[in-house]
This record gives sequence, structure tokens and C-alpha cells, in this order.
Amino acid sequence: MLPILYLATQNLHKVEEIAALLAGQFEVRTVQDLGLQEEIPETGSTLEENSLQKAQFIADRYQVTCLSDDSGLEVEALGGAPGVYSARYAGEPKNDQKNLDLLLHNLRSENHRNARFVTILTYHTEGKYIQFEGEIKGNITMEARGSSGFGYDPVFQPQDSTRTFAEMTLHEKNQMAHRARALQKFKTFVDESRKSHDK
Ligand code: IMP
Repeated sequence: MLPILYLATQNLHKVEEIAALLAGQFEVRTVQDLGLQEEIPETGSTLEENSLQKAQFIADRYQVTCLSDDSGLEVEALGGAPGVYSARYAGEPKNDQKNLDLLLHNLRSENHRNARFVTILTYHTEGKYIQFEGEIKGNITMEARGSSGFGYDPVFQPQDSTRTFAEMTLHEKNQMAHRARALQKFKTFVDESRKSHDK
């Protein structure tokens, strides 16, 4: 039987990406399975703080093994914005299309379009909290392209790629993206912990 892991996120796109990468290693469950109705709070000023806050919220309330994800897009020409505020760049309520439009607007006369996506995962198990980071570098395109994925995917083109994330399949994005890279570190950690536990 696979160990159960709850994902401390209400973003169904993240759930889809993470579940695809953890298949066979965990039985992945969502906060909907726990009956959570309200929004998981994220009031920190860094991705690390928010990621920890999300995992702690679910762990404190439900006493389960869980994994949270806080991610952001950092654009060099904007001094690292939207960063930790990526989900609400264009204000409340959060809206992916408005965020993306505002980003393209703010970069309209900018040639330097380097950016990176970062994910901080927090794993909660047996009273401990462990974080894993993943990043991918790329640039912001002049226009949105593609329709898969979510958030800023239509304007983010990874280095050495001719396509945006939104022009890739989930599987292709999961070969290289920030979330997948952090998950790879998490999977290695879990494998090694199991091996030393079995010794
Ligand atoms: P949070 O991690 O829930 O605070 O949300 C992060 C925000 O960053 C999302 O709402 C998206 O706008 C953006 N974001 C995070 N990861 C991705 C991704 O893989 N693709 C596109 N946008 C992302």
C-alpha cells in the first residue's frame, strides 16, 4: 500500500502536475478530501514563509502528512516582481488573465525580459517541516502563446526552448519546470529516508 500524502493547495493545476509526478510513490489526496471549505491563508512576505504557513495550516488542523507549494515568477527588469505576489499581481480577486495582461503591459517597452519561476515545497511529516526548492530560468515573451497550463504559462519561455509552457503538454512541462525540479528533490529525500529506515 502506498503512503497517503495530502497536497496543501487549492490550485487544481498544481494538484494535476504534482499528482502526475508522485504517481506510484504516494497515494495523493487533496484538501477537498479533507472537507476544507475556506481558503488556505498565505500572508507571508517570502515564498518560504507562505509555503510553511500552508503546510502548518493543514497539519495543525488535520494532523496529516502533507506537502504544500508556494511558487512565484520573478522578472529581472521588474526587480523580482511579481515574486511572492504572483497570484495577486493585478489585485483581488486573483485572476490569471489580468495578471498576465498587467505583466505584458509593464514590460511593453522592455527588451531585457529574463525571468525565473521558483517553487518552494514544504513537506510535513511526523512533526517536522522540510523545504525543497526548484527553479527554471527563461524569458517573458512579447505576446501570450498557447492554451495549456495556468497562470503565466502562456508568456514564459524556458531557456533553450522555442515554446512557452502553455504550448507544451503537461508531461513536457513536467520534464523541466520549477515545480517538477523541487519535486525531484523531495522524491530523492523520501527514497533515502525510506532506505535508511529499512536498514
Ligand atoms: P501561489 O503559489 O498559490 O501563491 O500562486 C503562485 C502564482 O504564481 C499562481 O497563481 C500563478 O499565477 C503563478 N505560478 C506559479 N507556478 C506557475 C506555473 O507553473 N505556471 C504559471 N504560473 C505559475
